[in-house]
Amino acid sequence: MAQNGLKHELDSLSSSPPPSKKRKTASPTPSVSFGMTDPDPDWQVTYLSMQSYRDPQDKDYKRARLAEPYISAFTDVKEQADGTLDRCYIVSPTDKWQGMRKYNSFVIDEVKYHLGEYVWVKHGLEPQTKTMHEKDFWIGKILEIRGATTSHVYALVNWMYWPEDLPLCQAPNELKPISGRRGYHGRREVIASNVLDAIPVLTCAGKVDVIHWLEEDDEDAITTPLYWRQTFNEENNELSGVRLHCVCDQPYNPDTTLLGCENPMCHIWLHKECILDDILTKTHDRLIGPLDDEQKRKLAKSKTSKKCYTGKFKADFKGDAMVPDVTITDIRKGQNGNTWTEAVYCPKCGFDMTSDRPH
Ligand SMILES: [Zn+2]
Ligand SMILES: [Zn+2]
Repeated sequence: MAQNGLKHELDSLSSSPPPSKKRKTASPTPSVSFGMTDPDPDWQVTYLSMQSYRDPQDKDYKRARLAEPYISAFTDVKEQADGTLDRCYIVSPTDKWQGMRKYNSFVIDEVKYHLGEYVWVKHGLEPQTKTMHEKDFWIGKILEIRGATTSHVYALVNWMYWPEDLPLCQAPNELKPISGRRGYHGRREVIASNVLDAIPVLTCAGKVDVIHWLEEDDEDAITTPLYWRQTFNEENNELSGVRLHCVCDQPYNPDTTLLGCENPMCHIWLHKECILDDILTKTHDRLIGPLDDEQKRKLAKSKTSKKCYTGKFKADFKGDAMVPDVTITDIRKGQNGNTWTEAVYCPKCGFDMTSDRPH
């Protein structure tokens, strides 16, 4: 883990080609002076829209042309058109930032970090005083590396959010903006964003692999430490959509199991709890009788997640989820906890989901 005073060097062989002619005239490289003991500047990143960058009639056009275009590497193929996350950014103090030389890599603690790589980022430069867990770090993708002296090296990073850190934002399947983790977010899931920050490279605490999970049917299990499937657009507080499944039309939390209906005409993926809900509702209707309209209205009005079978029947999958049988228990008074097993039928098409069990 990088700490103050650890070996820290730019790989001077991999500095990038000289900046464009235009910028060179404006600010020859390296033109900025940092004393060895000068504190890190308080870097601020501000943004302008791509509209301002492209439209000469826009009131911010001139400022935007001085900014750097940020072309996002994160496109959520299903929900967001290419370019949705793009914007322009200005790092200030601008003369200091732009006056530093650009590099392709840096080395901390014998680890070489390159442009485009994902890194664990410490929240500050203070030496750590406790055992650190993954959630004690941020995750960033390195977009730029700039340095003035060996003790003044900075990276512009593109943040990947832990779900817990999401500010108020709204996804297409949500009725209003909410913040933080959604029920479908997996333990190892992060959200790609268009939020950038300039950080001292000494806060980098190791590399991490992050992949784009496309949520396709035939995908192999995710083996990288982290994955993203969703994007957060800070410009309009939009969270991109995720694939919806099941009769409930809700997303999938990859830490849980979905069961697939084998009927070629159906092929739906189902949440286990939705299968149980279907079985329990049918059990209730068969043994007690369906709710009448008045009872249905009452149930719909109640703020709890009570179902018609709550407190009457419960069910759980029995054994191997690949051959789903469900054990149902009658928990009504006087029924002595009567228990039986039922096969599972697809709640959408009625197909026997246990039909491929060995005979
Ligand atoms: Zn469901
Ligand atoms: Zn089906």
